Amino acid sequence: MVVYLPRSAWNARPPNGGPGNLTVSRVQGAVIHWPGTGSTRPIHSQTAVASALRGWQDFHMDDRGWSDIAYQVAVDQAGRAWTLRGLRVQSGANGNADLNERYGAVLLILVTGEQPTAAMKATTRGVIADFRRLFPRGTAIRPHSAVRPDGTDCPGPAARAAIARGDFTPTSSEDDMTPAQMQELKNFIEARSQAYALWVHRQLRRDLSAVVRAYALDIKNYERQTDAADAQRAAAAVWATAPDNFPTNTEPKPAPDPQPEPDPGTEPDLLLPEPEPMPTVDTAPDGASGTDGSAPAADGSAPVDAAATPVTPDGAPDAQPESGADPEPNPEPKR
Ligand SMILES: [Zn+2]
Repeated sequence: MVVYLPRSAWNARPPNGGPGNLTVSRVQGAVIHWPGTGSTRPIHSQTAVASALRGWQDFHMDDRGWSDIAYQVAVDQAGRAWTLRGLRVQSGANGNADLNERYGAVLLILVTGEQPTAAMKATTRGVIADFRRLFPRGTAIRPHSAVRPDGTDCPGPAARAAIARGDFTPTSSEDDMTPAQMQELKNFIEARSQAYALWVHRQLRRDLSAVVRAYALDIKNYERQTDAADAQRAAAAVWATAPDNFPTNTEPKPAPDPQPEPDPGTEPDLLLPEPEPMPTVDTAPDGASGTDGSAPAADGSAPVDAAATPVTPDGAPDAQPESGADPEPNPEPKR
């Protein structure tokens, strides 16, 4: 647990406006800085540190025109932590507005040639752990030289090496989350999981729609083909009952099955072939036509009275007509 010296400990001026607090969801980590005085004169005592901090605040506000000293927190070689802007407030130290929104800013009060003490390292780990409690996704610890686009030597070779070694990385006990932080992280993970599930659901529905469309098309094609096959079978069945000389327009008549003899009782007249013209014989009764009152008989048999059909004793129709005329097209016996 880090105890932070208040702003009053270094006689800070009040800030002049400022960018406000960091946004939890945007913060990726903390950037480590040094003053970069170019001097090897140590700044170790509390008075010396307080005086130095006030000088840098004046420089940042009066010369640079910033709202406050640029950093969030300072850590000195004695292991003191100093409240500058504070861990919640966006810094002005990282190089541009985007970097300031994505990273916090911790100032190590190191001068040229100095190695960070064990006390500075321990307190810095505590500060980073506090930062992570405020910003659970802000776990990165980066030297200023790694993020500033136009380059810098900040925070110096010794601090850079310490970062690389993990000297400022909180241990598990230092990095323990409070229940509230755990809940915040849990909420974040749950929200992401739900968004992912929704995305998967939408993808699946899109894929499934494509499958259903393809399936429906297959069904339609299948029905079209089976409809055609059924219609062909039905047509064949009808054609099979048609007589040989049934007028067919364009439809080819299927190969005829062995045809039963037509039933004259049920065969429709429509299906009968056109009868040949009747022979042109004089059927008028005697005396009504002709000169001798009798029908001509080529074979010399008795004249036939056409008005009254002669019937043989057994009921069979008379054989007609006489030779010289075409035979009746349908020789079937009449009832
Ligand atoms: Zn820096």
